Amino acid sequence: MELGTFVFSHRGALAERAAAQDDVMGLVNLFSLRPLEKREVALFTLDLCNNRVDRHFSRFPEEELEKINEMTPGRPLLERHDMTGSLPRGTFFRSRLHREGDTLSVRPEVYVLRTEENRDFILNIEGGIYRETSISFSFRKPECSICGKDLRRCAHVPGREYGDALCHFIMREVVEVVEGSVVSAGSQGTGFVSQERAFPGAPLEALTLARDDLHRPIELWRSGWALE
Ligand SMILES: [Zn+2]
Repeated sequence: MELGTFVFSHRGALAERAAAQDDVMGLVNLFSLRPLEKREVALFTLDLCNNRVDRHFSRFPEEELEKINEMTPGRPLLERHDMTGSLPRGTFFRSRLHREGDTLSVRPEVYVLRTEENRDFILNIEGGIYRETSISFSFRKPECSICGKDLRRCAHVPGREYGDALCHFIMREVVEVVEGSVVSAGSQGTGFVSQERAFPGAPLEALTLARDDLHRPIELWRSGWALE
């Protein structure tokens, strides 16, 4: 049976706000159709994702963070109002890997045009109302941390302890970074979708459903057969 690709959202934090410098504008202008000036943009750094086990019992290995780091420039930054509404507000123009102790995180920088329309958005970030970020990405393989198999093909349960090891899944084979979003702190503005179905719930529910699909016994007795 072919296993599908997951599209997940992952929460992070806004790291800092930066003043536009001349050398940075050269990078910004790689993405604009006409050269922008410093006064026309607001720049922010986002802490998008890292290598720690998160509250959904998932984790990125370092090699996948390196991929995400390379895929992020050029992707849009959205404003996430609610489950459905998202407006594009900015573009990621550069990304770097940031290491602090054992934590490796992806820290892209984004520019937002200082238009009349974006004024409240920028004020909300600068004023600390929008403090959290969310990255949407797709990946192919949720690898079980206990046995190394695709989690849909084993029976281990993320969040449960086996001996002294906490079961979680390692997100491998990242395919695409879809977008980054800025959301107000504590909001539940993120969901994620699988190939065919949208799930408003947590990633674990999607995995459980995918696992159920895979383990559902094949019906051998079909109505037509009785007549043959
Ligand atoms: Zn397992």
